[in-house]
Amino acid sequence: MKFSDYIIDFIYPPRCCICGELIGYASKMTMCEKCRDSISYIDKDIDYSATLKNKFNIEIYFDCGEAVFRYSDVKSAIERFKYFGERNIGKSFAYLMYEHWKNNDKLKYADYLVSVPLNKARLKERGYNQAEYLANEFSKLTRIKHVHGAIKRIRDTKPQNLLDAKERVENVKNAFAVVNESIKGKTVLIIDDIFTTGSTINECAAALKKQGAAKVMFLTFSAAGNNLGSDKNV
Ligand SMILES: [Zn+2]
Repeated sequence: MKFSDYIIDFIYPPRCCICGELIGYASKMTMCEKCRDSISYIDKDIDYSATLKNKFNIEIYFDCGEAVFRYSDVKSAIERFKYFGERNIGKSFAYLMYEHWKNNDKLKYADYLVSVPLNKARLKERGYNQAEYLANEFSKLTRIKHVHGAIKRIRDTKPQNLLDAKERVENVKNAFAVVNESIKGKTVLIIDDIFTTGSTINECAAALKKQGAAKVMFLTFSAAGNNLGSDKNV
């Protein structure tokens, strides 16, 4: 650890990214022991395409993917990250995503990272795109290139968290386009903070495939919704 890091830790003591408790100086940990003990990873065998496929009969464009934690376990941390200006805890989120997948073969196959774009009004209001921030941090840890702005919003959409599952599907239908040539024939990993119905990620995957991506995977910090059998309102 560099001396300057000790100084930074002294001025801004490290805190658990989930509950905000102090976790001690020079700590490499991102979560306190209590959170580590009480929060578990989501089962690996979840079928993330279930809601879209079975309930809405939607064609699935992503090939595989995973979320790290249940949204209900990390809800307040995500709210601090997205709505209360605690941008820095996104670094810890990215680290936990990396920790979860660092030995996973999927990471070896990913050529590029991309992030879900935020609509202009919300970008202005929030000042940054949380998905892009996570992808940047994830890119530093994995050394997989993050292709900035690869996915564009081609029309305005309503905030997904105000809509039910059916409305979410309609809201983002054909809302994205990819204009980047470099993803042709590549395996692309979409990074986002929350997976709910999967409609946003599926539409992004559709746009990536349309542009010639060979394979599309996703990794999100959390997941909620019917796929997990609970956590409806995100
Ligand atoms: Zn904690």
